[in-house]
Amino acid sequence: MANTEIATMTGRQIVLNSDVIEQFHSGLRGGHLLRGDDGYEAARKIYNAMIDRRPAIIARCAGAADVIAAVNFARNNGLLVSVRGGGHNVSGNAVCDGGLMIDLSPMKSVRVDLQGKAVHAEAGVTWGEFDRETQAFGLATTGGLVSTTGIAGLTLGGGLGWLMGNYGLACDNLISVDVVTADGRLLTASKSRNEDLFWGLRGGGGNFGIATSFEFQLHPVRPMLGGILIHRLDKAAEAIKFYDEFTRTSPDELGTFVGFVTSPEGERVMAIFVSYNGAIEEGERIQRMMDDGFPAGRQNYWKSNFLKGLDTQAINVIIDHVAKAPSPHSAVAIEQFSGAVNRVSINDTAFNHRGARYNLLIVGIWTDAAAKADNVRWVRELWDAMAPYSSGGVYVNYLGQEADEGAERVKSAYGPEKYARLVALKQKYDPTNLFRLNQNIKPSAAKGGPAEARTKYETVINPTPRLYSAGPR
Ligand SMILES: Cc1cc2nc3c(=O)[nH]c(=O)nc-3n(C[C@H](O)[C@H](O)[C@H](O)COP(=O)(O)OP(=O)(O)OC[C@H]3O[C@@H](n4cnc5c(N)ncnc54)[C@H](O)[C@@H]3O)c2cc1C
Repeated sequence: MANTEIATMTGRQIVLNSDVIEQFHSGLRGGHLLRGDDGYEAARKIYNAMIDRRPAIIARCAGAADVIAAVNFARNNGLLVSVRGGGHNVSGNAVCDGGLMIDLSPMKSVRVDLQGKAVHAEAGVTWGEFDRETQAFGLATTGGLVSTTGIAGLTLGGGLGWLMGNYGLACDNLISVDVVTADGRLLTASKSRNEDLFWGLRGGGGNFGIATSFEFQLHPVRPMLGGILIHRLDKAAEAIKFYDEFTRTSPDELGTFVGFVTSPEGERVMAIFVSYNGAIEEGERIQRMMDDGFPAGRQNYWKSNFLKGLDTQAINVIIDHVAKAPSPHSAVAIEQFSGAVNRVSINDTAFNHRGARYNLLIVGIWTDAAAKADNVRWVRELWDAMAPYSSGGVYVNYLGQEADEGAERVKSAYGPEKYARLVALKQKYDPTNLFRLNQNIKPSAAKGGPAEARTKYETVINPTPRLYSAGPR
């Protein structure tokens, strides 16, 4: 094994001796990958093909002990860290260039507790895998619309899904989360243990530690009805008017969203995607209904905002713009928020968008990397044109990279009061901002202070890492 050059948190490069790497490797049940190793190329790839980054080391975690070892190794060496769950976030923060990628995707255990109607699922599980295990017992909870999305990133940001009218967001169904914090302790967060952390994990993303396992409440879910109602674009304004009225009083069991998409025949259409949680085979089919439209390996550029409402002018702006989309794979979604999501008290979770009716998501998807400029422009132009109709808030899981969005956008995901509380929580659980490749909430001491600017490990080259330091839970 050769010496390895690796990036630090402060952007410097250090060299880790081969024996340091060897010692790290032997402390991991799942092992690690270096550039050129078999499996390295596959492990660094994520859903969005626009992201082409090459970590110096990929730690393939097999369980919580590996995550603790990787966090201690990163902290003791001051390394740049990224954390990969399902690898679906369009921002690409799951992969770092030149640093240590802590890859949770091998962690696939799902254990259903039939008596307690609950499930323990590890952080590398996708929603398709989760559903397969829970639906064997007629149980489910709110999860993502596309089966290949990871449970980890989605839940930590909030988690919208077909069942949210009945059961709230994915994060609203959390009973507890096991988390490895920046100091290498494994904590359990729940309503009665480490409550402040539990609050922050429900919407605050990957800022406070690495979640290794999630415990969710499950619900009996009978066979579901679902499908797509398609309207021509020239009828879209009328259809949306009806939709807006109809969904004001529709039952919690009805999950819907509007999508401006391209039909298999190549025509731009307005579609209403519908699921009805009234009456298990069908349920599983609904969670996969969107999969064909979102294969991994395409270029993705997304922008999003909550809407004040659905007035005709706003709809006409969307219709005009949709007709000019440079790629047939691009889409515009209007996601409906109703029912149980809005009945959770706003202060219960870091997730802040209770009471919103609609979220706008502009999804630019194309296959030829050379077509980037046209597609990015199309997304941005529509987003700008929709600014007058936006409420200013944004769903953190739909944000792109900070360089593109600007640091203020993370604040608008939480509002000023919650953001201040999240900053204090970050200071408590991650004062050196070890977990910074995410929609980053900087610790309070970070404003030019020593914690952010320089770590005490920065000048240490080739230290002997402490491999394990589990504290009290
Ligand atoms: C095709 C597609 C469909 C989607 N559909 C939905 C949907 O229906 N509903 C919805 O709400 N969102 C949806 N999203 C958005 C989705 O919620 C986010 O992209 C989410 O971050 C994906 O989680 P992941 O684990 O797959 O992603 P990753 O890219 O692996 O993780 C994203 C970030 O989360 C953090 N993270 C991941 N795992 C952990 C962990 N275990 N501990 C701490 N931090 C961690 C890291 O900061 C990481 O950078 C969709 C995205 C795509 C691309």
